[in-house]
Amino acid sequence: MNKPIMITRSAMPPMEEYIEKMKELWDSRYLTNSGKFHKEFEEALIKYLDVSNVSLFTNGHMGLELTLEAMNLSGEVITTPFTFASTTQAIVRNNLTPVFCDVKEDDYTIDEGKIEELITDKTCAIVPVHVYGNVCNVYEIERIAKKHNLKVIYDAAHAFGIKVNGKSVLDFGDASMVSLHATKVFHAIEGGLVVLQDEDLKVKLDKIKNFGFLTEELVDEIGSHARMNEFQSIMGLCNLNHVSEEILKRKKLTERYRENLRGIEGIKVMEEVEGVENNYTYFPVLIDEEKFGLNRDDVYDILLNNNIFSRRYFYKLTSDFECYENKFKKYETPIANKIAKSVLTLPLHGDLSIDDIDKVCDVLCRINKNLSKEKQENL
Ligand SMILES: *Cc1c(COP(=O)(O)O)cnc(C)c1O
Repeated sequence: MNKPIMITRSAMPPMEEYIEKMKELWDSRYLTNSGKFHKEFEEALIKYLDVSNVSLFTNGHMGLELTLEAMNLSGEVITTPFTFASTTQAIVRNNLTPVFCDVKEDDYTIDEGKIEELITDKTCAIVPVHVYGNVCNVYEIERIAKKHNLKVIYDAAHAFGIKVNGKSVLDFGDASMVSLHATKVFHAIEGGLVVLQDEDLKVKLDKIKNFGFLTEELVDEIGSHARMNEFQSIMGLCNLNHVSEEILKRKKLTERYRENLRGIEGIKVMEEVEGVENNYTYFPVLIDEEKFGLNRDDVYDILLNNNIFSRRYFYKLTSDFECYENKFKKYETPIANKIAKSVLTLPLHGDLSIDDIDKVCDVLCRINKNLSKEKQENL
């Protein structure tokens, strides 16, 4: 059997770099509670991402959930169902009602043209997702939000370091949450960061993630507990030194995927978007059963039989989760439905080689019923 080709593999800094900082931790015994490395990491991120305020969390989800809480929202939130569980759960756990807007056929982000028809007098916010690092139409969303006086909180879990027309994508909306989970392009073992436009909100959020403490004796927020510890901060700091390399490696692999798969009947690949500096965090493809000759689940199984691990990401839609049954109004999202049934993310991480990518593509080409004989013979 071939060596397995994994869907992802956490990027690690050279061990010596981590140990070097660890030594300091061993001496100080200051393991958590907004220590030295936490502070350093926050400052380094502000610089790297070119944003004003960053608050770190033990994971991305708690960052999102507590940001919504800090904004004192009530009523309805317009969002999309084509996302990870976290987005919708964060909304629902704040006693807010999710209103599911469809996504766009070309990049799977919220269809900004369908937002306004979903706005009611109860709407308080929009929570769009930069899904796979595909940038939402941030300009149009900003216009709509201003017009209707709505907050915008981006689930930017996949959007670390992405720029649009030279500006950090995290600098749009009132807040953006980035996940620093081990499976993401940039990680701190687990972790999350929230970029906030309003400095007062950053101060409030820093309290909420720390039991509501303002000072040792003064507790003036009803707080929770979701701080990032020093081990995570050190991993983040070390990985930050190497994240550009990781992104560059993934870019080259992505380009190879595109070259190999472009024009193959029944497989849709994402292309580069003008003005966007991407982070190549995932490589999703859509399998069109009619044209390809096999459906997405068949392809998943065949890849697995070849020791290649892909992922049905995202399937199913969060609006179809059992825990929401009969709780919220149903919204028609035909495009999201279609994409959830046909999407497959292929292996992508910095430790893969061009040869690995070719292997994945060879399997896809070989099983494509519509590929010409001539092309198949050349494989
Ligand atoms: C990973 C992810 C999250 C949650 O991040 P954690 O750091 O794992 O809590 C939220 N939204 C999306 C879209 C994600 O992919």
